[in-house]
Amino acid sequence: MDYQKIIDDLHLKYKSKTIKGEVASYIPELKKIDSNKFGINLYTLSDENFGAGDYQEKISIQSISKVFALTLALKHVGESIWKRMGVEPSGDPFNSLVQLEFEKGIPRNPFINSGALVICDILISKLKNPKIELLKFVRKLVNTKDIFFNEKIVASEKEYGYTNAAHVNLMKSFGNIENDIDVVLDFYYHLCSIEMTCEELSKSFLIFANDGILPHSKERIISLSISKRINATMQLCGLYDEAGHFAFKVGLPGKSGVGGGIVAVHPDLYCISVWSPKLNKKGNSAIGFKVLESFTTITESSIF
Ligand code: GLN
Repeated sequence: MDYQKIIDDLHLKYKSKTIKGEVASYIPELKKIDSNKFGINLYTLSDENFGAGDYQEKISIQSISKVFALTLALKHVGESIWKRMGVEPSGDPFNSLVQLEFEKGIPRNPFINSGALVICDILISKLKNPKIELLKFVRKLVNTKDIFFNEKIVASEKEYGYTNAAHVNLMKSFGNIENDIDVVLDFYYHLCSIEMTCEELSKSFLIFANDGILPHSKERIISLSISKRINATMQLCGLYDEAGHFAFKVGLPGKSGVGGGIVAVHPDLYCISVWSPKLNKKGNSAIGFKVLESFTTITESSIF
């Protein structure tokens, strides 16, 4: 399969298409992003790497990082985390507070904001220095030292984080947050602010395509069971209330972020990342979704 040609063709095709969407505007720092940015990267398990457009530019990965946080929590704490959240799709936007009151402070899943906030709380209780451990973990997956938090994004998230603060407060009132609210929010905003390129994103997700083993060093990072659970959670909850549509049209486990990135995993084959900042109504990259749909159609690759 000529992956480079497929990716180049898709880049060319979607670069000139006008697809409706809006750059995330809930914080000023994200609003500044050039909406025409567009990158695609594919990393295979045989260590081949194909890119087009802005795939080597650092992007705000936002909620894609929720996958790293869940992985760390499962690795360090294990299955007991599921006492504090579910694994069901929410069918609601990522920042919706509605279910949380009905369901007594237990988030539907780890990929909506409330679930990720509980994961942050769990990691704060378990790890000595969660921010450093988090960066160390992501750097190891990519085999680079060049991955950092963007402190401007952190500050912007803090300044405008009324809804996230409401989530933590509500969960604390139900007894599902152990640590100080500001400490949990601070870690959560750092988690959201990680910057990576599409190339780094694809590479970092290869453990989920490779049963938990890092392809470049052959080191086992997580068990087969954790890898399987994370792929299942991505499939069901990775694109919020568009997860069903993504399974239907793309057919791969995936995770999106409001920075306009989406990563998808084909177990045993590859990971693919797309970045295009204009978001559709569900908060997922509009072009990213289309590119992934076209890619799995052209390559006839899907888990189904
Ligand atoms: N920083 C965003 C928030 O907390 C992350 C949301 C996302 O990427 N979907 O709302």
